[in-house]
Amino acid sequence: MQRKTTQRTAIEQVFLNEDRPLGIEDILRLGRTQVESLNQATVYRNLKLLIDKGWLKQINHPTMGMLYERSGKGHHHHFHCRDCNRVLELPGCSLKQETAAPEGFIVEDHTIFLFGVCSSCAACPR
Ligand SMILES: [Zn+2]
Ligand SMILES: [Zn+2]
Repeated sequence: MQRKTTQRTAIEQVFLNEDRPLGIEDILRLGRTQVESLNQATVYRNLKLLIDKGWLKQINHPTMGMLYERSGKGHHHHFHCRDCNRVLELPGCSLKQETAAPEGFIVEDHTIFLFGVCSSCAACPR
């Protein structure tokens, strides 16, 4: 039991450190710096557990597939940096949802991913 707790703590720590949505590969790579024995099955099991607990939620990235992020941050958009390949959270909402669709449509929700180069990559191009 001790071991399972440690692995879950490592996964939680990865999210707290990074503070951005992460894919399974990121979680594995970053988690292994804390718990070397971390494997994909364990990560998936713990992700499911953290989602059930309401600590994490899934987001569906148009090209990267399923990503995981901390829940409870409210509605926000995402920015995908094509340089460092990180997905960052943009706080708040800049879309006027009621005018984004033609008249007569009832908009219930939206998901926005912006693509480009993040400020750190723009400041020091590789
Ligand atoms: Zn970047
Ligand atoms: Zn929005």
